[in-house]
Amino acid sequence: MPSEFDLIRRHFTRPARHTTLSVGDDAALLTPRAGMQLAVSTDMLVAGTHFFADAEPEALGWKTLAVNVSDLAAMGAEPRWAVLALSLPAADEAWIAAFARGFFACADVFGVDLAGGDTTRGPLNLCVTIFGEVPAGAAITRGDARAGDDLWITGKPGHAALGLAHLRGEAALAPAAAHACLAALHRPQPRVAFGQALRGVASAMLDVSDGLLGDLGHILECSGCGARIEVEALPLAALRACGADEVLARRCLLSGGDDYELLFTAAPTRREHLAALAGKHGLPLSRIGTITANADELVLREADGREHTTTHAGYDHFA
Ligand code: ADP
Ligand code: MG
Repeated sequence: MPSEFDLIRRHFTRPARHTTLSVGDDAALLTPRAGMQLAVSTDMLVAGTHFFADAEPEALGWKTLAVNVSDLAAMGAEPRWAVLALSLPAADEAWIAAFARGFFACADVFGVDLAGGDTTRGPLNLCVTIFGEVPAGAAITRGDARAGDDLWITGKPGHAALGLAHLRGEAALAPAAAHACLAALHRPQPRVAFGQALRGVASAMLDVSDGLLGDLGHILECSGCGARIEVEALPLAALRACGADEVLARRCLLSGGDDYELLFTAAPTRREHLAALAGKHGLPLSRIGTITANADELVLREADGREHTTTHAGYDHFA
């Protein structure tokens, strides 16, 4: 039976690239660059709540870090360091090795050093705290959307939820579509470079993890605004092309979770610049609505002009 220290040494110790003192001491030492603020976020993934206990460990390793990286992307920050607290039911080395492989694959893509952590026996529970840097004063918060701003979303919102619907037998997708949607679910691609490119451009931003409408509600609440969404402008076609019917496509896009796309607001004067940025980054970008002055009011406008007020209740673990 490997000891806790064997496991840490074998699976979670690698040469650090930009960490002053890394795994192995009582605390890590991180040195932010001059003029930078630290952006810090933590996310816990609990077996049975956020993933199935028999989930494929390599994909789980990727996702555990990726969801944290996405939080920094949503601030316009650059991810730099992470610490990993693991509670594991057993010292299953094959599982841990695969988990570490996925975790470090994500760390390599986004330039993150694993600087420390904690390893303990207990129910399967994965918790990452991530540290990033952003030029002082340049972070993009949830609270600065203004009436008249456009509302934008990156990428392919709803695909992860469609993948989950497929796993649950609620949708029968063709193999290629199922593959793409399951990749979105299991290996989310946080929009880090695009998030940084939005500094000075986006007025408010967050990453969509609990459903577009629910997360939009957080921007509206923090900014004291409302929003009108143009149903015609929603990127529903990509979901229909995967085989979702209209009702399912809409549900996945508006209230499905696990997107890790960026939802942001920007002044209409930025449209051309944003279209150019999207082209440069090879990222689909959809302008889906407008911010209004009616605090907390969320209106959906159908293609035929009918409007209805909707609720922006997202996923709530305690509701
Ligand atoms: P302490 O007893 O001081 O809490 P630990 O024995 O828990 O130290 O950890 C020893 C070292 O290994 C520390 O530097 C800690 O940050 C690191 N560490 C423990 N678990 C992990 C992990 N899962 N990933 C990365 N580093 C870890
Ligand atoms: Mg410890």
